[in-house]
Amino acid sequence: MLDEDPKSVDQCARCGACRSVCPVFQESGWESAGARGRIMILKGLDSCLTPDSQVLDSLNSCTTCAICTELCPAGINPPALIERGRRQMVSKGVMTGQQRSLAENILSSGNTFGLNDDRLSWLKDRKLILKKADYAYFVGCMNSYRFAETAARTFSLLQNFGVTILPAEKCCGSPLIRMGFDAQKLVKENSRQIKEIGASTVITGCAGCHTTLKNSYNEFFEVKSVSEFLSEHISELDLRQLDLTVSYHDPCHLGRHSKIYDQPRKLIKAVCNLEEMKTIRESARCCGGGGGVRYGYKDLSLRMAKRRLSEVPEGVDYIVTSCPLCIRNLRDAGAGDKVIDLVDLLAMALP
Ligand code: SF4
Ligand code: SF4
Repeated sequence: MLDEDPKSVDQCARCGACRSVCPVFQESGWESAGARGRIMILKGLDSCLTPDSQVLDSLNSCTTCAICTELCPAGINPPALIERGRRQMVSKGVMTGQQRSLAENILSSGNTFGLNDDRLSWLKDRKLILKKADYAYFVGCMNSYRFAETAARTFSLLQNFGVTILPAEKCCGSPLIRMGFDAQKLVKENSRQIKEIGASTVITGCAGCHTTLKNSYNEFFEVKSVSEFLSEHISELDLRQLDLTVSYHDPCHLGRHSKIYDQPRKLIKAVCNLEEMKTIRESARCCGGGGGVRYGYKDLSLRMAKRRLSEVPEGVDYIVTSCPLCIRNLRDAGAGDKVIDLVDLLAMALP
């Protein structure tokens, strides 16, 4: 993330360029649902105006997709400022009951679902967890509990390169941080385990985990997405060609936030045909699931996902992506099992 200096709120020229691309503004049409309106609200908060529920809705409905950052002529970074505004509100106790209970659940259970179930139920043999390793795969809550097969496939692929997992991984803290809460308890616990393993690189299979581990943890390890790591080892993968044509959805937190565009495409092209969506890379439309929006504003989130699906070329066999949050939102918006993780595609191409 770029600048979240409060002074940059004053740099907004109110040109409205951001309105043409904001996926939330496109659905709602309200000025307060776009970056420009949110920045005006942040100015009000900085002048000590009292926030009401509409202020909460305005700031909390940003998916942090950062497409506005890409084209803001004033060079400001609206989602970073919006997250700062969310922290201001939470620090004053201004939040929805839903936000409060999600935060409490995550902090007490260590996962976004508030579950006490085994996070490693997908792992056949716990002896595969190495005490010491250079690389650690950070599985994430979504893959641990909702896409366990993808977690198992990813770990099985990564094991060939001496990768281990954290013995008692907790939520990375992303939902808390995006919503404006403190996630230090989780950050400290995961950091302790990564240190104990001695891993110099942490490999993420979720775009939200990727941004969080990269920006909100101490920098004693490097963070790589699964697609970055595997694309570096592509010659060692023994992949075969598949008779498939797929499209790739750029997750905002891998794409615009971390500039990971080429690596997933390199892997896809190594196994099948890639037919691109209408908007891609820096201009890719958001799936609507990030920034806590899927949790707080499900209908709005699914409307954004539907619009994203309208950009998929006709006749593709699969919509491939690299983030379980995007997978869930695009599936729920009507694409069903046609949406798969990049690792699921690669698994089809393995001997
Ligand atoms: S594009 Fe940038 S300068 Fe223009 S209104 Fe949006 S945030 Fe303000
Ligand atoms: S980050 Fe995305 S959702 Fe948030 S204001 Fe910018 S364009 Fe809109």
